[in-house]
Amino acid sequence: MTDKQRIVIALGGNALGNTLPEQMAAVKITAKAIVDLIEESHEVVVTHGNGPQVGMVNNAMIALTHEDKDQPNTPLSVCVAMSQAYIGYDLQNALREELLNRSITNIPVATMITQVRVEADDPAFQSPSKPIGKFVDADQAKMMEEKFQYVMKEDAGRGYRRVVASPKPAEIIETETIRTMVDAGNLVIACGGGGIPVTRNGNHLKGASAVIDKDFVSCLLAKELDADCLIILTAVEKVALRYGQPDEQWLDDVTVAQAEEYISQGHFAAGSMLPKVQAAVDFAASKKGRQALITLLEKSKEAVAGQTGTLFHI
Ligand code: ADP
Ligand code: MG
Repeated sequence: MTDKQRIVIALGGNALGNTLPEQMAAVKITAKAIVDLIEESHEVVVTHGNGPQVGMVNNAMIALTHEDKDQPNTPLSVCVAMSQAYIGYDLQNALREELLNRSITNIPVATMITQVRVEADDPAFQSPSKPIGKFVDADQAKMMEEKFQYVMKEDAGRGYRRVVASPKPAEIIETETIRTMVDAGNLVIACGGGGIPVTRNGNHLKGASAVIDKDFVSCLLAKELDADCLIILTAVEKVALRYGQPDEQWLDDVTVAQAEEYISQGHFAAGSMLPKVQAAVDFAASKKGRQALITLLEKSKEAVAGQTGTLFHI
């Protein structure tokens, strides 16, 4: 993979950190890794997760309802929008600076606030499973169920947490705007936190109480933009079989068919590596020539050069 490519890069939790100062420090490193690829003349589109950030915004907005009785609770869709803007701001700022530091002055950087449509009858809405926000005790959990109509679940003896649905992304509403910006040579940050989940009712898009998986939406965006490569950056350099076991085996190169077999054998943990492998397989299988890579942020340049990471292809 040395020719100029259109690459969609999905940033995981370790590219952004867990607190405001951590994020500000992390984006500087993230920006270096992204601009390394731009310097090699690749066209890059950035997506990212928002787990800690959306939890933080949600907690802050709940605190507001305690302080000011006239403030209603903030819908989760609005919290996702706030997290997109906040993360987008830090990334945009750091990317611009890194580009200018390398005398690249012709690539404007922009964040697209992105809505992603989900189906109202997606079965995920019937069984919310994704934990978000902080742990609370049983009394607080009961209060949150009554006051905010949250679904609260006991989480492995650590207390109660809110759980929300994680429906599949059906359509990226701002696709045309993103495409126009990318085609014009902008460095675009889009689909943050999996996108703002909305359901369609005629012309009206209504915010949904859900969190869309950022790996799935990144795959959809990569297909929509006809990208050559989807890179999912995370906390491991490669994907493993029998991960964490003594006979663990790191994968360099897998075909779609092999990966599907490994999925069915249960090698990848639900909620962490499984959605990444599923997204990688889905993208690689979608058209001849398309490839997906899963690797560490710090290794992205080497991985694109074929030296590390796990590569998925037909
Ligand atoms: P992100 O924030 O990037 O989405 P996650 O924590 O959700 O990161 O997922 C990455 C994690 O998945 C890795 O750090 C690793 O602990 C875990 N993991 C589970 N199964 C595997 C596997 N088979 N191979 C490699 N990592 C795995
Ligand atoms: Mg994750």
